[in-house]
Amino acid sequence: LRREEIDVHLQPKVDLRSGKIISFEALARWNSPELGNIAPDVFIPAAEKNGKIRLLEQVVLKRVLTWLRKRKEIGLELRQVAINVSADHFFHHSFIPHLVDKMAEYGIEHKWIQLEITERIGFVDIETAHQVFKKLKRYGFTSSVDDFGTGYSSLSYLQKLPVSEIKIDRSFISTMHEQGTLAIVRTIIQLAENLNMTAVAEGIETDQQRRVLVSLGCRVGQGYFYYRPMSLEEANLL
Ligand code: C2E
Ligand code: CA
Ligand code: CA
Repeated sequence: LRREEIDVHLQPKVDLRSGKIISFEALARWNSPELGNIAPDVFIPAAEKNGKIRLLEQVVLKRVLTWLRKRKEIGLELRQVAINVSADHFFHHSFIPHLVDKMAEYGIEHKWIQLEITERIGFVDIETAHQVFKKLKRYGFTSSVDDFGTGYSSLSYLQKLPVSEIKIDRSFISTMHEQGTLAIVRTIIQLAENLNMTAVAEGIETDQQRRVLVSLGCRVGQGYFYYRPMSLEEANLL
């Protein structure tokens, strides 16, 4: 963080029927001159443990806002970008004030930023979580529940949350050939529809998976079948 080695890659979220890009997700990258490429699954938990995750996610936000501002300056259309937010950050008292400050500083409308919060945080403090989501919505941000289906949380909390999107965890998509998993995926897609939320399928790697998802009524997805995460410069070429 001190040496500014944290970078951001973007992965498109795509309309499963037309293949058109709907928005992007920002993913943190660390290429260390000494250690090489470190996987997020390694440095994100480390940052969480060391109390540095908020700082790291603020860097991610800054890079995304810089990218959006640049697009605006050179006359490219803006794209919504989803930022991953850890539990520590999400429940921190300065999360929303800092976010709102930065949006103003960079002159970007709130609707261009989405917040992804993993279901794994458990939403233990569901009341507080509800308040934060409500506030985000009031400010014009959209929110997404990430890794849905892995968090062992009860379904009843979901209908209370003012979120616009749920992301079906990659582990379900990769095992959809099993009848039981297929039933779960179908159910999550229906649940999202009934709650007026968008279901986003993560980790689509084959056209077969894409076709099954379309037949189940899923409209949005992400995965190597479409695009791998790419640099900010590459994203500008799309
Ligand atoms: P995630 O939020 O679930 O992000 C999706 C991960 O799946 C990304 O891994 C992405 O590269 C990978 N992926 C996308 N499509 C496919 C596919 O078709 N097949 C496979 N096998 N993988 C696919 P990545 O970039 O390694 O990130 C891993 C995790 O690290 C993320 O999972 C997220 O939980 C965390 N992460 C990354 N950046 C941040 C951040 O800024 N803050 C927080 N809190 N977590 C972050
Ligand atoms: Ca995510
Ligand atoms: Ca995910």
